Amino acid sequence: MTAQYFAPVASPQQPRAAFADRHIGPAAGDLHRMLAAIGYSGAEALLDAAVPAAIRTGRPLDLPPALSEPAALERLAEIAARNTVLTSMIGLGYHGTTTPGVILRNVLENPGWYTAYTPYQPEISQGRLEALLNFQTVVSDLTGLPVSGASMLDEGTAAAEAMTLAHRAGRRREPGTFLVDADVLPQTIEVIRTRAEPLGVEIAVADLSGGLPDGDVFGVLLQYPGASGVVRDLAPVIEAAHGRGAQAVVAADLLALTLLRPPGESGADIVVGSAQRFGVPYGFGGPHAGFLAVREGLQRQLPGRLVGVSVDADGAPAYRLALQTREQHIRREKATSNICTAQVLLAVMASMYAVYHGPEGLAAIARRAHERAASLAEGLRDAGVEVVHGAFFDTVLARVPGRAAQVLAAARERNVNLRPVDADHLAVACDETTTEQHVAAVLEAFGAPAEVRPATEAFPAELRRESPYLSHPVFHRYRSETAMLRYLRRLQDKDIALDRSMIPLGSCTMKLNATTEMEPVTWPQFAQIHPFAPLDQAAGYVELISELEDRLAEITGYAKVSVQPNAGSQGELAGLLAIRGYHASRGDGHRTVCLIPSSAHGTNAASAVMAGMRVVVVTCDDGGNVDLDDLRAKIDKHGAELAAIMVTYPSTHGVFEESITEVCDLVHAAGGQVYVDGANLNALVGLARPGEFGSDVSHLNLHKTFCIPHGGGGPGVGPVGVREHLVPFLPTHPLRPEVGDAATGVGPISAAPWGSAGILPISWAYIAMMGPDGLRAATEGAVISANYLAAKLAPHYPILFTGRDGLVAHECIADLRKITKETGITAEDVAKRLIDYGFHAPTLSFPVAGTLMIEPTESEDLAELDRFVAAMVEIRREIERVAAGEWDAADNPLKNAPHTAAALLADEWKHAYTREEAAYPLPSLREDKYWPPVRRIDQAYGDRNLVCSCPPPEAFED
Ligand SMILES: *Cc1c(COP(=O)(O)O)cnc(C)c1O
Repeated sequence: MTAQYFAPVASPQQPRAAFADRHIGPAAGDLHRMLAAIGYSGAEALLDAAVPAAIRTGRPLDLPPALSEPAALERLAEIAARNTVLTSMIGLGYHGTTTPGVILRNVLENPGWYTAYTPYQPEISQGRLEALLNFQTVVSDLTGLPVSGASMLDEGTAAAEAMTLAHRAGRRREPGTFLVDADVLPQTIEVIRTRAEPLGVEIAVADLSGGLPDGDVFGVLLQYPGASGVVRDLAPVIEAAHGRGAQAVVAADLLALTLLRPPGESGADIVVGSAQRFGVPYGFGGPHAGFLAVREGLQRQLPGRLVGVSVDADGAPAYRLALQTREQHIRREKATSNICTAQVLLAVMASMYAVYHGPEGLAAIARRAHERAASLAEGLRDAGVEVVHGAFFDTVLARVPGRAAQVLAAARERNVNLRPVDADHLAVACDETTTEQHVAAVLEAFGAPAEVRPATEAFPAELRRESPYLSHPVFHRYRSETAMLRYLRRLQDKDIALDRSMIPLGSCTMKLNATTEMEPVTWPQFAQIHPFAPLDQAAGYVELISELEDRLAEITGYAKVSVQPNAGSQGELAGLLAIRGYHASRGDGHRTVCLIPSSAHGTNAASAVMAGMRVVVVTCDDGGNVDLDDLRAKIDKHGAELAAIMVTYPSTHGVFEESITEVCDLVHAAGGQVYVDGANLNALVGLARPGEFGSDVSHLNLHKTFCIPHGGGGPGVGPVGVREHLVPFLPTHPLRPEVGDAATGVGPISAAPWGSAGILPISWAYIAMMGPDGLRAATEGAVISANYLAAKLAPHYPILFTGRDGLVAHECIADLRKITKETGITAEDVAKRLIDYGFHAPTLSFPVAGTLMIEPTESEDLAELDRFVAAMVEIRREIERVAAGEWDAADNPLKNAPHTAAALLADEWKHAYTREEAAYPLPSLREDKYWPPVRRIDQAYGDRNLVCSCPPPEAFED
């Protein structure tokens, strides 16, 4: 199959509606009606009033004119055609896999799954929470450890998180040494080094096959099987590590664990890895779900998200995010990690792969990959080629003195990529997709006869896995495609995603993820490229990435952009490390104080700590702006140690702060750098450039402003953009000298050279199809829509912060606190009641507790905005009935929300409001009603009774 196969039939020349008119929800006439409601005669007048003149750019976007949808696909097909799909037997943590069609089409290509948000509102997220619980069960069973979180960003960062977890678990004061086996994946070692340096942790790399070297260490990392393919008994090294009081971390291959003794049974404390080979395509490096599992006793220290089982208001079991994973905004600089957006969609895919294949199916896949590798090893040995390790799972290391390059080229002629290790060694990794023909071709490349003979098991019998796994019914029930299809549909139907209604989540920018933007993601020429394939096979990717980086630089006003960070949080860390590197290069290594306003996103403080900085909070004034007096005081106090300020612009309070240029000047004058958190760039594109108005570095969230879907909590891409003086300190990669400047760069921030490259075509397509005018129009639309909602809601709910002329930026905060005081109805009650009206709640209690932050984006049309306003206004009337005493303060539709069909259809109904008032508070709901699968979930119960893998079926009985 080629990309051309998918190319559109319509001619690009054929006139049709511009893409921007499809992307922007309100029609031109509607925008004028909305402007009139706000009190403005035109968009320019509103923007002039809302956006401070001091930050407005004088230069329109210098980008190519908009392409139509067919023309964009045609151009992408040309780019894709420059990628060459060969059979990659490179390994190093990335393996060929077959995505079952039923999962490809019904998860990866299905907006019901990919447009959902992170499951912070569990009542409307039961489908994806169940899928994530399945993921946790897969990881926990296969690793042999009791608790697994629901996805990390990739294997390298998971290993780095394991390092800091091991340090916390050891309760040591000094940073200490983390010992890494030399046979750990090279990119993992370097990601760990990047993370260790600012914390003062020493990384010691040594060959641990003969035991531990002398010296005190707080943790040890092993790879299982090793990067070289070798399979060794982990137990002796783990025992030695425990003897030194160190935690044992193992980076393991999930597929291998279906056949090999799991690390948990060898005593490992923490197991990390990637679930990529469970049905998730290469995508030139990502996105894929990483994982991290821990032994008993470490679960409360787990980074990232953990799904647990709790109960709803009727005592029925229900899923929700557990423990600290909800608490990043509360814990801030004390958070266990900065992970926010992770890899939910890919974790869902991997979990469904396990559900579909079941334990025997997975074992059969593993056995086949193993047999291919064993046959290859036999064939090589027969031909006199030395096979270095006798015990392996899927990867064979061959010694061919002086001949590695020649064999590599011969394999390449046969359309196979092998991994060159050095001049004398090559590694060959087999996988689910490896056929006898592939093995024969590789044998030929080595100069051996292309004769594939069956082979016997090639690892020691005592390492064979004896313990059962995936015995839960979910891994046995859905083996026919029909059953699987219906399981996926059933879960999908439990959730609210963008395919059902608007998701007005402030700060998260839940805008359209256009189908045309999504289509290229699963084209083989983008999906099937190994991240370490020779670069001439990825020429299309290189072109797409450099065009995208250049266009993002033009949009933001920075000198250079790197797309390597695979979430906003990782962009933050990369940006702060660039600042750290810059200060150090000037002999200013003592500059370690990072000023962060109290309104900041929780990731900011967590990232600053990871970058070795000390967080000093700057207060905000009553208007929600950075308090300049406090800023001056903090600068006076910390001036000599000032490293940076991290501000979000427009602020998380939803306003364009007038003082931003002054903030930048004050910090610069004191020798600090300015980090502008670019998560809110949707309010700036085409109007203002952070790199022009005083910022030195920003991350952007391509999964917010640039249309990558949220995937139910990831994937994401968090590019980092910097001004000229910080360019030398951008991320690099050990296996790709083309990325960054190896001499000065901060090292890799994620495992793959260009992060989640596989989803970059989405943002490329968005920018290409919108063109400079469309992008600016989108910003205009976002600002108009937010101000329209603020104007319509203000008579019913106070709008907390506004800027000049009472205007907001691209989001607004509805303040429930006074209403709560007077009536007892909380912001959470309103959030849950919105579910009965068919809506996903706005952002709850961030950045201000007791409020709702509402961001409509430009993609919602006027009818949908009005439907939301109608719901909010009706809810306000309901609150009045509580206030008037008509409904009991504790027993009313708000406190009891959301209402399930089961609760409404029960024979007994003892409430003062009617069933009709509960279910159909607005007539329009009769046409389209969402039925929540559970009632309100008891968060505290679940934290007290932590269950985070599939509960036994009995738990679901009455
Ligand atoms: C979303 C967001 C982040 C974090 O981005 P992730 O991609 O979720 O890691 C940081 N700051 C702000 C203001 C955000 O809204």
